[in-house]
Amino acid sequence: MVSILFQFTTMPPFNITGYSTALFSTWYFVDELRLLFDAGDGLSAALLQKGRRVKHIFISHPDRDHLGGLFQFHQLNAREDWPRIYYPKDSRSFPYMEAFLKTFDPHVSGARWQPIEDGETVWIGNNIGVEAIRNEHIPAAPGLSKSFGFKVFEKKQKLHPDLQGLPAEQIQKIVLERGKDQTTVSQRVDLLAYSGDTPIGSPSLWQGVKTLIHEATFLESEGHTLNAEHLNKHSTLEQVLNMVAQTDVEELILGHFSTRYDAAQIDLRIQECCQNMGIKIPVHRVLPGQVVENILQKTPLKG
Ligand SMILES: [Zn+2]
Repeated sequence: MVSILFQFTTMPPFNITGYSTALFSTWYFVDELRLLFDAGDGLSAALLQKGRRVKHIFISHPDRDHLGGLFQFHQLNAREDWPRIYYPKDSRSFPYMEAFLKTFDPHVSGARWQPIEDGETVWIGNNIGVEAIRNEHIPAAPGLSKSFGFKVFEKKQKLHPDLQGLPAEQIQKIVLERGKDQTTVSQRVDLLAYSGDTPIGSPSLWQGVKTLIHEATFLESEGHTLNAEHLNKHSTLEQVLNMVAQTDVEELILGHFSTRYDAAQIDLRIQECCQNMGIKIPVHRVLPGQVVENILQKTPLKG
């Protein structure tokens, strides 16, 4: 009986469906959490009735390829209090959109628009929080929030380490005697994270995350005609895999590839990098132009 009290209720792998192509559109739908990361064009046409399941929409930044699907999604699915649309608080695009959509589609004006700031947590379920993490995709003064990644975590009370390993009956007795506050410790588990569009961050940012969705706009930083300013806003595949190799991330989803690369080039480069860097975890990818259903159930690419 006691052990049941301390078990985690939500565990990966999540059923994640997504589309992510640099410049055109990005969105990821996490079915169990009823959550969308970003809302690019084509979202409603791909999800069809499943779109109705979405309750929480976290928009990473106001680039049009990350929010262009909101118009149709809103028209089809907004109802009293839902969905909740969370956006970086210092992005002025969102209040304009809210005002426009409430006028454009007054019959569905129930959606709630909520500005959030760096480090803020939105609770979307029992013990399930989504934390906004500022990144530097859009330059902003310190203290301003214009571009985010997100971490989904579960907060749980776990049995105090001193009591672990004792017989169940004894644990039950001690918990009854001393109360839960004295016999449990709070633990946070980072179940899932989404980088948004971002220059590469330090490995410590994603350390401990079980499933990471990360952008990899360019395969490498050299050999093409991009200017430094463009490169500095995004991550390269090499940078992401090199960063992940220094973490305990358990599973990786790569997306936001540029259409300058074809599928074979992307897969080959992922496999080469995984081999060179000794990456053993499952690596999935969302190739340009493709909606991928239940990404984590697909056969992963490995080194
Ligand atoms: Zn983008």
